[in-house]
Amino acid sequence: MTANKEIWAVIPATGVGNRMQADRPKQYLPLQHKTILEHTLDNLLAHPQIRGVVLVLHPQDEIWQTLGYQTDKPLLLCTGGVERQHSVLNGLNHLQQQCSSEVLVLIHDAVRPFVNHAELDRLIEKADECPGGAVLATPVADTLKRADAQGAIECTQDRAQLWRALTPQAFALTDIQHALQQAMAAGHQVTDDASAMELAGYHPSLIESSPINFKITTPADLVLAKLLIREKEWIQY
Ligand code: C5P
Repeated sequence: MTANKEIWAVIPATGVGNRMQADRPKQYLPLQHKTILEHTLDNLLAHPQIRGVVLVLHPQDEIWQTLGYQTDKPLLLCTGGVERQHSVLNGLNHLQQQCSSEVLVLIHDAVRPFVNHAELDRLIEKADECPGGAVLATPVADTLKRADAQGAIECTQDRAQLWRALTPQAFALTDIQHALQQAMAAGHQVTDDASAMELAGYHPSLIESSPINFKITTPADLVLAKLLIREKEWIQY
């Protein structure tokens, strides 16, 4: 199905990671012998259908070059913006300047090293056949409470049909470029890329992903990530 399309990944890695309370951006924290970002890159670049990656770095990034990261596939660099949406759009624009053919783009957080290849296969297949693209996501498993201003329970929310959006999120390159441009021009602040597609009238498909594909955000997430990288059992999920 994807024979005529090139598949690329865009990885926004411009965040500073305040919630991690670390001395460097969270994507540069070590996990075993590599940084989190290097694990994420290795994982995506090892997928046979992914042709290359656009990595979006902070304009003042001083760490990336010191890693000496090597890959046989194309790895394009550009700089990001104030919010995630600006960084993603810069990455998409950079990619479009390099590619002549039709492109399916997988947009993936730098700090989700645990997405597995079976999930990527399902995502790519679905995104290729759905006009609005596709998104990895996990059904909500816990009971959801809405809090009042004092931090007490105001009510219980129905969790049926609720999903948590993860990444990668996969779209036709030109569609997501236009959607993000429109969303930003209209003053919307979107925290994921599917939101921009929704504002443009699309309905991206949800592809179930393991919760092991979590975003390393807090010190507790880092503890979990260190356990997982040792066991490598996440590959089975
Ligand atoms: O901050 P958050 O956890 O939502 O970040 C998700 C991803 O977006 C991370 O890979 C982070 O580096 C990236 N990001 C970015 N530019 C920003 C903010 C976040 O590339 N201005």
